[in-house]
Amino acid sequence: MIALSLAEIATAVGGQIHDIPDPAVEVTGPVVKDSREVEPGSLFAAFAGARSDGHDYAAEVVAKGAVAVLAARPVGVPAIVVEDVQSALGALARAVVQRLGATLVAVTGSAGKTSTKDLIAQVLTRKAPTVWTPGSFNNEIGLPLTALSATEGTRYLVLEMGARGIGHIRYLTGLTPPRIGVVLNVGSAHIGEFGGREQIAEAKGELVESLPAEGAAILNADDPLVRAMASRTKARVLLFGEAGEADVRAENVRLTADGRPSFALHTPSGCSEVTLRLYGEHHVSNALAAAAVAHELGMSAEEIALALCAAGSLSRWRMEVTERPDGVTVVNDAYNANPESMRAALRALAAMGEASRAEGGRTWAVLGQMAELGDEALAEHDAVGRLAVRLNVGKLVAVGGREAAWLRMGAYNEGSWGEESVHVSDAQAAIDLLRSELRPGDVVLVKASRSVGLERVAEGLLEGF
Ligand code: ATP
Ligand code: MG
Repeated sequence: MIALSLAEIATAVGGQIHDIPDPAVEVTGPVVKDSREVEPGSLFAAFAGARSDGHDYAAEVVAKGAVAVLAARPVGVPAIVVEDVQSALGALARAVVQRLGATLVAVTGSAGKTSTKDLIAQVLTRKAPTVWTPGSFNNEIGLPLTALSATEGTRYLVLEMGARGIGHIRYLTGLTPPRIGVVLNVGSAHIGEFGGREQIAEAKGELVESLPAEGAAILNADDPLVRAMASRTKARVLLFGEAGEADVRAENVRLTADGRPSFALHTPSGCSEVTLRLYGEHHVSNALAAAAVAHELGMSAEEIALALCAAGSLSRWRMEVTERPDGVTVVNDAYNANPESMRAALRALAAMGEASRAEGGRTWAVLGQMAELGDEALAEHDAVGRLAVRLNVGKLVAVGGREAAWLRMGAYNEGSWGEESVHVSDAQAAIDLLRSELRPGDVVLVKASRSVGLERVAEGLLEGF
């Protein structure tokens, strides 16, 4: 964090100082909410969770070197006491970003926020010191903590913003107001909670509504609901996509023999070839969004292309490709799933399978439930099962309960399949089946919603290698 005294922090958050002998002492370490992450000079934010209460750790964190606790009540050690710790953390983040003078870039969308945020960060970091959200730290607590990790030298702050309802993004943009806002897509993630796609678009569009006139709204030209957000912003609009009129465009998109996307990147400053290190054609869209941000911040097409070619995944379980010494390839995409990302992952698997088929390899899709689909759940699982057949995937292993049965039923009903699809009850059963069946050259995709925890299958398949 930028150095701030406890007195300055108390003012910024409207809190009372308790048991602090010298309010001029500065917070020089990270602001954290996990006692294990406390370092000398830290400020510890005490949250009361379901399992533990941060206030109980006050003495321990101060002994470890924290200069004070941001707390909801006096705790017997140096504390800034506030009514609500979460709001106070937000207020502190707002005060810090106001002082920073860094450019804030925020990313939202139904799928690809973390991947795109990681790409943007890897491109911008080549130009100037950049701080970004670790993992998917995209809510009212993670976002301020990320903003607070910026230091005096930080030029770019790249933030992921997640929405689970109307008003969420508006709240987050109030804490850390972006100058550049990226909206990736409006899919069906969390559609059950929102009620429909229009509501999702309404919620995501709050990002561009928050942008100042001198800012930039970076919108997906290929997604009609995102494109329509152009009318909801004062900021300049920059379109990305494969559509001909997009300002930042991919042409001649193809997959390399091993399934990585390759394309000609066109920006208003020129054209350059890109081959991503990431798997799955959905990353073309994410890369274009990153390119549009970088263009807005003055990077040339060539610089952007170089950075994109070198960029890997910074967050785990997203199309993480591992080749075992015996020649079996495991693609761990178990971080999360929705219909769009399932389709993208299956297409990537099919492309990777093309290359391995020549050597006798087969493709396996080990899939589980896509959560939170509301009334669309049956149809969406059925459609994914059918797509696996149409893409010529070798075998479908559907893992779990009712939704897995729907996946398998879709595959079965698509026509030609019998034994190619199986339904197993849980991760262990999938591991047992695959261990006995896999042979060199096979490619296994593992994917389901977060709540299914299917990474256990990917990890189980890599164990002992
Ligand atoms: P969350 O809401 O869980 O934070 P997210 O929006 O941050 O998710 P990622 O973590 O980047 O998204 O990716 C989640 C899943 O979506 C992954 O399985 C990934 O393969 C897929 N995905 C990534 N980008 C896209 C995209 N542009 N379109 C469709 N699917 C995508
Ligand atoms: Mg995320």
